[in-house]
Amino acid sequence: MVKQKNVCVIGAGIAGLAAAKSFAARGHKVTVLERSGDLGGVWEPARSYPEVQTQSPKELYRFTDKPMPASYPEWPKGPQVHAYLTDYARDHNLIPLMRFNTTVVSMKRREDGLPGWTLETRDAAGNTAQETFDFAAVCTGQFNERKELHHPGEDKFKAAGGIILHSAEHTDSSIVKGKKVVVLGGSKSATDIAAHSVNAGASAVTFVYREPVWRIPYFIGGLINFKRILYIRAQEEMFRGWGLSALSRLNHAIAKPFIWANWRGLEAMLKTQLKLKKCDMVPEGRIEDGINCSVPIATPNFFPMIADGRIKAIRGTFDHYDGKTIMMSGGQRVEADVAVLAIGFKLGVPFLPQEYRDKLIQSDGQYRLYRVIANPDLADMGFVGFNSSFCSVLTAEMAANWLVRYADGKLAKQPTPAEMHQDMDRILHFKRVERPAAGVYGGLCVAPYHFKHFDELLDDMGATSKRRGALVEKFTPPDADAYARFLASAPNYKADATAA
Ligand SMILES: Cc1cc2nc3c(=O)[nH]c(=O)nc-3n(C[C@H](O)[C@H](O)[C@H](O)COP(=O)(O)OP(=O)(O)OC[C@H]3O[C@@H](n4cnc5c(N)ncnc54)[C@H](O)[C@@H]3O)c2cc1C
Repeated sequence: MVKQKNVCVIGAGIAGLAAAKSFAARGHKVTVLERSGDLGGVWEPARSYPEVQTQSPKELYRFTDKPMPASYPEWPKGPQVHAYLTDYARDHNLIPLMRFNTTVVSMKRREDGLPGWTLETRDAAGNTAQETFDFAAVCTGQFNERKELHHPGEDKFKAAGGIILHSAEHTDSSIVKGKKVVVLGGSKSATDIAAHSVNAGASAVTFVYREPVWRIPYFIGGLINFKRILYIRAQEEMFRGWGLSALSRLNHAIAKPFIWANWRGLEAMLKTQLKLKKCDMVPEGRIEDGINCSVPIATPNFFPMIADGRIKAIRGTFDHYDGKTIMMSGGQRVEADVAVLAIGFKLGVPFLPQEYRDKLIQSDGQYRLYRVIANPDLADMGFVGFNSSFCSVLTAEMAANWLVRYADGKLAKQPTPAEMHQDMDRILHFKRVERPAAGVYGGLCVAPYHFKHFDELLDDMGATSKRRGALVEKFTPPDADAYARFLASAPNYKADATAA
C-alpha cells in the first residue's frame, strides 16, 4: 500500500500544473509554491513580450485531457496559452493548492531523519518561513534566471534617455513606437521582437546576431505544416539514437545516403523559401547536426523584412555604448533609443544545496538525470519539465506521470540506483561523444527523440498500449489523445491517507 505523501511542487508553469495534477490524482497532498503572482511560468502575461506565440502547433502543445479551444489559431498567442493553462488548473482544482508570491530560497534534508526536505521560502514582503515535505517536485523550468550582459557606457546611454531591457522585461509594445530599436540575440524571441518592432512603428530596427542558424518556417515550402515533417517518428528515426541494436546500426549505415539527401533537400528548400542568400543568412552547419530544442521557428515576415531593409542585420555583438550610439564588435555605429537584449536565461537550481547541485550538474554543465527526471543521489526529489522538447506540455505531463510512480515505487520497471547510474553514464556518453547537439541546455532537451523518450517512459510505467497503427504511428506527430489512452493503460493505484 502506498502511503500518502506531503508533496511540494516548486513552480506553477506547465510542468508545475502537470506535477500537481499527477500527484493529487494519486491521492497525495500537494502544495504548489510559485514565486510570481500568477500561474503559467513563461506564459504569464507579466513576463511575455508583445505578440508572443507558441512555436508548437496547438495540438502539440496541450495536456492529454484538454485540447486547446477550437477557436484558437494553429499557433496560439501568449494570452490564449495563459487562459488555457488557467482553465486547466481550474478544471483540476489546482488553484487552491497554489501559494503565489512564494519563492523557494533554499532547501535541506529533513532534520527528523524522515525522507523529505525542509524548504525555506520567502514571500513578497520578504518574510521567510520553513516548511517540511516528504517529496519535492522541482518544476522551475529553464527560462527563469535571466542572463545579464553589460557593456561599457551603458550608464551614459541610459542617462541620455536610452532604455536597455532583457527580452522578458519587454512587455509593452508602445515602448518601441517611433523609436530606434536594436535587438541583440539570435533566438526566436529576438526575431519576434525585431519583426514586432517594425509592426509596432519603430523608426528603425537593427538585429544584431552572432551567426546565422537554420530556422524552420511554419509551413515548409509554403505548403506543409512543419509538424508533418519534423515531428514524425519516420523523421526521428533518421537520427541515430542511444542504445541502438547492431541491426539498427546496420540499417542506419545502409540508409545514410538517403538520410543525407533528405537533409540536403530540406536545406535547399529553406534557402529558397526564406531567401537566405539574399539576406546573407545561410547557416554554415548542416541542419541535422543542430536539431535540438534551440532550433527556432522562423518568425513570419522576419526574412522578408531583412531582405527589403525594414530590419537591418549586423553580424557580431555589442562592444560598448557611446552616448545614444551602440558600437558593434565589427566597428559599426548604430544609433539607438531602445536596446532589447534577447540573450536568454541561465540554467540552474539555485535553491538546491551545493553538495546536491554537484551530484546533479556535471563539471561540463550536463545534468545527471535518469530519463531526464530523477537522480538516486537526490532522494525524495524529481524534476518535471526538465525534459524540454518541441512539445513541452506532453513531455512535462509524461514526466509527471512517471515521477509520481517513481516516488511511490510503482513503476513497472522501478530502477535500482545502480541501474540508474549505469543508464545516466550511457546517455551522457551519447550526448558528449555521439551527438554533441543533444548536450544543449545541459543535455535537458529530448528533441528530436520525442517518441523514443515517450516509449521509454511508457514502458517503465507498464503501459500496455503504447502505439497507434503502424503507418499512423510512423507518419503523424505525437497525438495527445492517444497518449491519454497509453497513460490510462498503465496500472492504476491510489495512495492511502490512513496507511502507516
Ligand atoms: C517565449 C517562449 C515560447 C515558447 N514556446 C514553446 C513552444 O511553442 N513549444 C514548446 O514545446 N516549448 C515552448 N517554450 C518552452 C517553454 O519553456 C515550455 O514549453 C514550458 O512553458 C516550460 O514550462 P515549465 O513549467 O517547465 O517552466 P516555466 O514556464 O519557466 O515555469 C517555471 C515556474 O517556476 C517558478 N519558479 C522558478 N524558480 C522558483 C523558485 N525558486 N520558487 C518558486 N517558484 C519558482 C517560475 O516563476 C515559473 O512560474 C517556449 C518558451 C518561451 C520562453
